Amino acid sequence: MIFKDLGFEPQLQEGLDMMGFEKPTPIQEQAIPAILNNKDMIACAQTGTGKTAAFVLPILNKLCKGKTSKINTIIVSPTRELALQIDRQIEGFSYFTNATSFPIYGGGTGSDFDAQKNAIKNGSDILVCTPGRLLAHMKFNYFDASGVKHFILDEADRMLDMGFYDDIMDIAKKLPKERQNLMFSATMPPKIRKLASNILANPTTISLSISKPAAGITQKAYMVHDKQKIALTQHLLKGRDLNHVLIFCSTKKSVKELTRILIKANLSAHDIHSDLDQEEREKVLLDFKNKKVKILVATDILSRGIDIKGIELVINYEVPNDAEDYVHRIGRTARADRKGEAITFINGEQCLKFKQIEDLIERTLEKTPLPNGFEAAPAYITEKRNRVKKNFKKGHFKRNKHFKNKRKKS
Ligand code: ADP
Ligand code: MG
Repeated sequence: MIFKDLGFEPQLQEGLDMMGFEKPTPIQEQAIPAILNNKDMIACAQTGTGKTAAFVLPILNKLCKGKTSKINTIIVSPTRELALQIDRQIEGFSYFTNATSFPIYGGGTGSDFDAQKNAIKNGSDILVCTPGRLLAHMKFNYFDASGVKHFILDEADRMLDMGFYDDIMDIAKKLPKERQNLMFSATMPPKIRKLASNILANPTTISLSISKPAAGITQKAYMVHDKQKIALTQHLLKGRDLNHVLIFCSTKKSVKELTRILIKANLSAHDIHSDLDQEEREKVLLDFKNKKVKILVATDILSRGIDIKGIELVINYEVPNDAEDYVHRIGRTARADRKGEAITFINGEQCLKFKQIEDLIERTLEKTPLPNGFEAAPAYITEKRNRVKKNFKKGHFKRNKHFKNKRKKS
C-alpha cells in the first residue's frame, strides 16, 4: 500500500510528498482508515513505528474537508518535548493545508502563557498539550471546548506512570460527550485497559506490540563495577567519530556527574533533566540535533517518544528500573528502519533486573568482556533468589527436624 491509496485530500498528500512519506507503516495502514471512519481506537505499537502520523494524518484530512473557528482536536502528551515534537510534525504535514496547531505546555515565561491563551482564543484547530498546562487554561472562560471533536492521548502508558490518570479524566469531563477518542500506547498494561474502558466507546483495538527492540539495533551489555563505568564510557567513545550519542542515567545526580567528567575529558557533552528550565532543555535538544553537542546525557525524560534522527549509540549507564523502559530507551536509536547500537552497563547488584529485560525481549545478551587493562568485572549472577530459597528450605527442614525431636522428648 502507498499513501496515495488512502485518498487523502491533495493539499495533505502534497505535505506527505514534501516530507518524503511514501508508504504507510503497519500501524498507519491499520489506524488511518478506522480514524477516518470516526471510530474510537486504542492502538498499541512499539516505539518508532510511526504512531504520530497514524493519528495526525486522518485528523488533518478531516480538517481539509471542513474546519470551524473553534478548537477541533486536543492531543495530550506526557512531556513538553514530545508535545513540541508532535506540533512540529503537524506543521510539516499541514504545510499546504490551512489547518493550524499550537503547543500548550508549561515551564516557559508569562508571554508563553499569553501566546497560548491567544491560540486558544483564536480557535487553533489542534492543541498539543501536556496535561497540567491544558487544565490550567481550561479553568478560564476563554477556553471554549464546545467544538472539540477529537481527543487523543499519545504515550498513554507513560502518562499513567507519571501519575496523570486524574488529570486525563478531568480533561475528558470538560469535553463534549460526542467526540472521537484515540489512545496510543507502547504497552498495554491493565491500568491502560481501565483508562480505555472509561474514555473510549466501542473502540477498534489495534495491537502490533510485542515489547521487542527494533531489528536494526545491535545490543551489547557489559558487566562492570560502578567505579569502572566512567573509564568504560570514555573507552567506548574514544577514537569513534560519533555525532549522536545518548547516555541514559537513572538519576539527575549521575547525569550531572558524568557530564562534568566527559566535558573535562574534552568531549562534546551536555546534560538534560528536569532541573533545567524549558528554554534550556529546548536549546540543548536543538544543539544535539544540530551536532553542536554530540553526547547527550539524560534522565528518562528523553526515553519516550522523542525522535532524533541518526542517534548512533545509546548507552544505559545504569540498568533501567522498568524492563519496558529498556526497550524505549534503546528505541531512540535505529528509528524508522535505521541501524544503531545500544550498550548497557550492569553492575553486580543489577543482574536480576537485567535478567528481567532479557526475559522481556526473549533474548540473552552476551556479556562483553571489559577491555584490556580493566580490573576484573563482577560476575553475572541471576540465581541469587533460588539459592536463598534453597538455603531457606534447608534451614527450614533442619528446624522442623529439631522441632520434631523436641516434641518426641516431651
Ligand atoms: P512512534 O510514535 O511510534 O514512536 P514516530 O511517529 O515518532 O514513532 O515516528 C518515528 C519516525 O519514523 C519519525 O522520524 C517519522 O518521521 C518516521 N516515519 C513515520 N512514518 C513514516 C512513513 N510512513 N514513512 C517514512 N518515515 C516515517
Ligand atoms: Mg510517539
